[in-house]
Amino acid sequence: MTSERFDVLIVGAGPAGSFAAEKLARGGGVRVALFDGRPAGEPKACGGGVTSKALKAWPHLLKAVGRTVSEIEMYSPAGKRLHLKLNEPFAIYSRTAFDSYLRDRAADSGAHIIRERVSFRARANEAEDWILQSKDGLRWSAPMLIAADGANSPIAKRLAGALPPAEMEVAFGYRTPLPKNDDAPTVVAFLPGWAGYAWAFPRVDHISFGIATSQDAFDHQALDQLLWKFMIGYYRQREDRKSNLWHARDAQYEDMDARIKDELEATAERYAARIPGLAVKTWDTRRAAGEGWALLGDAAGFADPVTGEGIYYALRSAELFAESYMEGRPLDYERRWREGFGRELRRASEMRQRFYGNFWGAPFTERMIELAGAHRGIKRVLTELVAGDQGYVDLKRKLARKAVWPL
Ligand SMILES: Cc1cc2nc3c(=O)[nH]c(=O)nc-3n(C[C@H](O)[C@H](O)[C@H](O)COP(=O)(O)OP(=O)(O)OC[C@H]3O[C@@H](n4cnc5c(N)ncnc54)[C@H](O)[C@@H]3O)c2cc1C
Repeated sequence: MTSERFDVLIVGAGPAGSFAAEKLARGGGVRVALFDGRPAGEPKACGGGVTSKALKAWPHLLKAVGRTVSEIEMYSPAGKRLHLKLNEPFAIYSRTAFDSYLRDRAADSGAHIIRERVSFRARANEAEDWILQSKDGLRWSAPMLIAADGANSPIAKRLAGALPPAEMEVAFGYRTPLPKNDDAPTVVAFLPGWAGYAWAFPRVDHISFGIATSQDAFDHQALDQLLWKFMIGYYRQREDRKSNLWHARDAQYEDMDARIKDELEATAERYAARIPGLAVKTWDTRRAAGEGWALLGDAAGFADPVTGEGIYYALRSAELFAESYMEGRPLDYERRWREGFGRELRRASEMRQRFYGNFWGAPFTERMIELAGAHRGIKRVLTELVAGDQGYVDLKRKLARKAVWPL
């Protein structure tokens, strides 16, 4: 059977795939085929939070329909509240809006968008083209194959090796209606008794609630109950500011909570997916590029092991690959991503356990919120961490200057 031939085949039209396609087609006149296998109208499971660091790197992202946020409520596991005012806003997008904005830019720059879910065939040798095939038997070929097909990428498993289950975070949540009075704060709450956090990210027309935690710790029923408690507490606070986020603590709220729960059960749409959370050793050993292939974004494992943030790394890996390819040295991508952000993510992986562990007889996140509430310098560092401007490599040194720090 004949196949259409391109210079580069990119599997997956999420942020990584679409951005790489745009950069390659626009900058170097490269013939790119971008395969979008996501069913129409089915958004990628995601909080949709994009840090101010990403918005500064690619200001055009602000043209996608989203909501900018300049204040955030943080809660400690025991329910202590910390209000953070950000110097520069971050944005929250519906992934349908964000992904289609980036895909349209790729199309406008000349990339061929092919709305097919494709499977791939391994090559017999490096001189051969890669071949992708649709379920109807259509075929496409190219000397360069890019896997941007997300956390479960079969291409990445084949080319770079499978990740053990412990190196996957689990994230799930619900999309719910905005509160009627439209007072919808952005909230991040560290979980009582679990590694990870819950979030409430208001978007233009709904709120994305979710919990991200490690696969090892995952107990679906208990975490789902915790998330419902969080969601009910969030809506209760919209009606009564004095109530506590996690616990009503008062019989007067029983009826209110029951009503909120009924309303949410009738409207909430559930979603779930995995986020890579690579171990230190895997950062050292797993490759994201080889002769004629490269992995981008989640397919490469590029997400922050502490927060699960992956959109910045999807975009940055796409950019670094495109630059390497257009300079005629695609294998340079391996060095560039390691220098560009690999060290940071490896450091985050080292810190993860202590970040969600104990310090001075209480969860470290409890102490962090407590200290930030009392100490302007620590609050500033925390604000910069949320903005994406404070990396992990020098975090310990910065905080040690402000206070005693265990990381
Ligand atoms: C619940 C949850 C919440 C999150 N919240 C945030 C957040 O707030 N901020 C943040 O920065 N990160 C967040 N992340 C992480 C973020 O979603 C990912 O890191 C990011 O989407 C990675 O982008 P990507 O382009 O690499 O992959 P994806 O966005 O997963 O895109 C991959 C694309 O490939 C397509 N595809 C897969 N297989 C094929 C195939 N065979 N053929 C064709 N197409 C295919 C998929 O349909 C998909 O469209 C969250 C993740 C989860 C699960």
